[in-house]
Amino acid sequence: MSEASLPPHVTIIGGGITGLSVGWFLQQARHKGFADLHYTILEKAERWGGKISTDWLAGYGDAPFVVEAGPDSFITQKPWALDLARNLGLEERLLPTNDERRQVFVLNHGTAMPLPDGLQLIVPTKFAPFVRSPLISPLGKLRMGLDLFISARKDDEDESLGEFVTRRLGAEALDKIAEPLLSGIYNAEAEKQSLLATFPRFRQIEKEHGSLIRGMVASRRAETRLAQFHSGDRRPMSMFVSFQNGMQELVTRLCERLDGDCRLGVAARALDSRTGGYTVTLDDGRRLATDALVLAIPSYDAAQLLQSLAPDAARKLESIRYVSTGTISLGFRADQFDHPLDGFGIVIPRTEERAINALTWTSTKFARRAPDGHILLRAFFGGSRSPHMVTTGDNELVSIVRREIAAIMGVTAPHLFSRIYRYFDANPQYDVGHLGRVAAIEAALPQNVFVAGSPYRGIGIPDCIHQAQQTVESILNRRAARPA
Ligand SMILES: Cc1cc2nc3c(=O)[nH]c(=O)nc-3n(C[C@H](O)[C@H](O)[C@H](O)COP(=O)(O)OP(=O)(O)OC[C@H]3O[C@@H](n4cnc5c(N)ncnc54)[C@H](O)[C@@H]3O)c2cc1C
Repeated sequence: MSEASLPPHVTIIGGGITGLSVGWFLQQARHKGFADLHYTILEKAERWGGKISTDWLAGYGDAPFVVEAGPDSFITQKPWALDLARNLGLEERLLPTNDERRQVFVLNHGTAMPLPDGLQLIVPTKFAPFVRSPLISPLGKLRMGLDLFISARKDDEDESLGEFVTRRLGAEALDKIAEPLLSGIYNAEAEKQSLLATFPRFRQIEKEHGSLIRGMVASRRAETRLAQFHSGDRRPMSMFVSFQNGMQELVTRLCERLDGDCRLGVAARALDSRTGGYTVTLDDGRRLATDALVLAIPSYDAAQLLQSLAPDAARKLESIRYVSTGTISLGFRADQFDHPLDGFGIVIPRTEERAINALTWTSTKFARRAPDGHILLRAFFGGSRSPHMVTTGDNELVSIVRREIAAIMGVTAPHLFSRIYRYFDANPQYDVGHLGRVAAIEAALPQNVFVAGSPYRGIGIPDCIHQAQQTVESILNRRAARPA
């Protein structure tokens, strides 16, 4: 293979949403004049999708329970997942959250309290509901208001989310709002979580407006004006969407459309360089010659594969920390269930010291998740708060979660089924300095070797798809830059 024609063959290791999307964008590149490009995707499991996995439980009524093992939706403000869904012809299959019932509760000294109306992420933008809310003490509210007067930090140094929120809004806002809501998304510890890798917009707002409250009020007004301007075009998109039959629909459609060499149940075991490219040794001993590699797998797996090929990159990859988490879904009959379920669920601050981290009221959050007359709940456990929960046996785990649901919601109705999903070493931690670590990893990678996915530049599904797109652009740019 001549240098000028590189890279006609790309091997993608990992068949989660990132790896599958890399295949998709390579395929799209053929229409842009890269007709000879072809690719192989290797997935070690017997199914595609990685952390995305939906189960359908029939036999309880007019429709199945739709049970998500991992992600239950994706954010639409970051456009990449929505764009992919539309390009795959899935627009009609999108399922928005039930926004007329959007209310999130926070557990506060054992009682579920609604988040005040007008809260943008963690910042109050409506005065009256915030002042009336019992969630934050009067002193805590005053401290949050000081944000309007505290001088802004202007440099570009990273800091932890915990330091940032305490600095601007005070400790109570951190404990009761930011930690359960924002660190919860990342299964992270606020004192370690990188502000710049997870919520860079906060720093940007601080710099531009001198205050989070002023900045968020301004952006809420701008969004309202934009929504009014566009209201004739189409209905505003819900902030989170899924698909009618669950997140698995995205994976299934993507796989149907991929025309490359897609191999299930095949793991990459070793990587070697060869003239002008690489050799991938598969777990059955066969070898695959390739010109470019995309590692869309956990960073510790990437480290192992790169140990002899790129020891420096491997060492750096090992520095990304992971935690293990899990979810448990429980189905109920509605006529036995004594709770209004008047919201999307409850987030639980670390300071409450409970065995679970959050509860989603799935059948309120989405339509079509439980048969008529039934209810579906999901609890999250594990992470740094309660690592032991992930290794707790099924029966004990169910009893603990039932005790927590009884204590938090007062619900003791018998469940019809439970489904437990454990994710070992599955949640990468974006500790302070994360973006610097990722840049150093990328700089240490050999030519035409790429890493992409949740350990690097965003854990959410849209971010993973975006990274896939950017990786393909890098591959194409390198190719276009080569002299013929
Ligand atoms: C419980 C949970 C809930 C979540 N909820 C949401 C949510 O609601 N919304 C959202 O946007 N995101 C959510 N996320 C995050 C999101 O699901 C993940 O970040 C994303 O799916 C990761 O995709 P990926 O392709 O990068 O990695 P993965 O899905 O981990 O895929 C990597 C794949 O590589 C394979 N692999 C590993 N090593 C090899 C090898 N040597 N050879 C071949 N194959 C290999 C693995 O088997 C796996 O299939 C959640 C995550 C979890 C765990």
